[in-house]
Parts: sequence; C-alpha cells; structure tokens
Amino acid sequence: MMSIQSKLSGLEIASVSRFAPAKTTKAQPGMFSLNTDVLFRIAAELDFQSLQTWRMTCRAADEIGAMLLRTRYNGALNRHLADPDGFRSVLRATMSVVSGSTVLHIIDQARSPTWAPNDLDIYAPLDGAGRVASYLIDVEHYTRKAVQEPTYDGVYAGFKAVIHLSKGDLQIDVIQSITTSALYPLPFFWSTHVMNYFTADMFCVVYPTYTFQGRGLLNPAVLISKQYPTIRTLQVIGKYQTRGYDFRVYPYAWAEGTELDCTSDEGCPRIIRFFGDRYCCVGSLDTVAQSLMTDGVRGYPNRTRMVRWWRGGPACGDKCTHGDDDFALRANPTVQTHQVPVEFYLLWLNGRPAVI
Ligand SMILES: [Zn+2]
Repeated sequence: MMSIQSKLSGLEIASVSRFAPAKTTKAQPGMFSLNTDVLFRIAAELDFQSLQTWRMTCRAADEIGAMLLRTRYNGALNRHLADPDGFRSVLRATMSVVSGSTVLHIIDQARSPTWAPNDLDIYAPLDGAGRVASYLIDVEHYTRKAVQEPTYDGVYAGFKAVIHLSKGDLQIDVIQSITTSALYPLPFFWSTHVMNYFTADMFCVVYPTYTFQGRGLLNPAVLISKQYPTIRTLQVIGKYQTRGYDFRVYPYAWAEGTELDCTSDEGCPRIIRFFGDRYCCVGSLDTVAQSLMTDGVRGYPNRTRMVRWWRGGPACGDKCTHGDDDFALRANPTVQTHQVPVEFYLLWLNGRPAVI
C-alpha cells in the first residue's frame, strides 16, 4: 500500500491505471473484489458527498477514498509547489489551512471542469504567517512581492496582512489572521461557497448543502447596509456566475413559494455556526483508523481555539425559528473566537455532547 500511495502522491488521477493492483485490498465479495485502480476510477466518478458516504461502507472504500482525496489535494498543491507533502508538514506545524478557490475547485467536481483557480491562498495564525512565508521563500523559491494590509479596519476583515508571493506566473497569498486561529478570517469571506478549507490532514466544507448545489450566500457583514454588494463583490460574483454559481443574500430568496419559512439549516442568518459543527461536511485525508490515532479531530487546525459566527441580518420571515426577541442580537453579523480546553474536542470525538 505504501509504495502505491507514495507513487500516487502529487500525480493526477489519469495516471493511476498504470499501477498494479494493491496487494492489501483483499479479495472480498462484490465490488471490492475489483482491482484497486478500478475502484479508484469508480471513486473518481463520485461527487464529493457521495464519495464520503461510500468511504463509510468498508475499510477498502475508506482507503481508496482517502487516497483519492490526497491525490487531488497534492495535485492542486503541486501546481504551485514542488513538494506538496513538505508543505503539508508546514501547515501542520503552523496550524495553517488552505482555503478559497483552490479548495472549491477540489471539492465541487460538478462545476470544476469549466474553470481553474488562479492562485493559492494560505490562511495562517497571527504568529504563523511569517513562518509559512519564509518556508515558501527559502524552500520553494518564491519572492515576496508585497505585504498588503486591509484597506478598512482589520476587525471587519479578520486578517492583519496579506503577504503576496510569486514565482514566474505563480501566485501565493499568505493571509495572516488577526487572532491565533487561522480560521478567523473565513467567516468574513464575501460568499459561503468559498468558505471551505483543507488543513494538512482534514477538510471542512462549511455550507455543504448550498455549495454542492452551486449556491452561495453573500455575507451581510461585507455588504453595504447589509444589503448591497460593493463593486469588488460584484466583480467576483460575475466571475463565479460564469463558473456556474448562483448568489443570494438570504436562503429564502431561492424559495419558490410565497411563504417565508425558516429552513433552520446551515444558512439561517441567526443560527450560531462554528467550524466543525453538525452542518459542516468534515472528513479526513487518512482512513478512519489512521485519523483516530492522530489529532485530526473534526477538522480543527488548532484545538484550543474555536471560531464561531452568525451571518446576521433579517430573520427568515415571520416563521424564523431563531427570529424572536431573544435573538434580536443576532441581527448583527458577528464573528467571535474563544479559547476552549483540549478536552472539548476529546469529548466531541467520543460522541458525548459538550456545552459551549
Ligand atoms: Zn431562520
């Protein structure tokens, strides 16, 4: 298994069939008596959510699915980096994540064949961005082009600075969070469909129902008067519309009837969300057995920090489950970060509910 995995690392899926069947996939009844490369081909045809479901059917499917995701992830990193595995070690050590268009392109296969991401966005903690940039300069031979600070108060953007790096035509942005969590800037993104990330070993899709339907909810926090997109947002909306995505400010705007019914789902403006919550689609790039032996719990790069937010704005009509007076505060878009004990995630992993 290891030799095949190492051969696959960084390669595109198309080259997989050149390899011999893995010896560790023992003959089993039905589909799993097929060779590894055939199973790999089948897995590659599944959409992201079906792949995650398929991975739960047995150990062989989990191994193949994990291998496929690592291949896609390393392949995406390989467009910018000579050593994807080395870079993932840096993500692990600095508790940083990859996010933005690169991740969307990996996870949303329904729309990804029509476009390619331009640059690679790395989100790093306040104290980790310098180390990520230094690695890219020293090891991957990128050049620091500029350091840009938010044009408005950083509190409303979630980041302190963006370090622009380039190598020939290749561009990498290292975004330095204003907190010790790399994830803090993500709830400030202009739309929900790009709020996805890969840590070194896990992935998290934060609005899976909408994202896998090609839908993005615009972020009230970055709209003018919480209603109107800025010129910059209009430009990116246009770009993503040509890639097959559709945008609204509130989920009920997609409803076909005349009733404004709270869906009580991931998109309700007043539901408190946090990375790794029950609405997120979270999974590992390792098998279940492997990830249980590591710290990769619910996709958190830093297990002592929790980032939570609510989108804010008008409730989902009269029937919003979260729209009564007690929730009036949630009319304002809010992002918060909290220190949490490591035990919180261990309790979570063991399936016992924890009160935040
Ligand atoms: Zn609601």
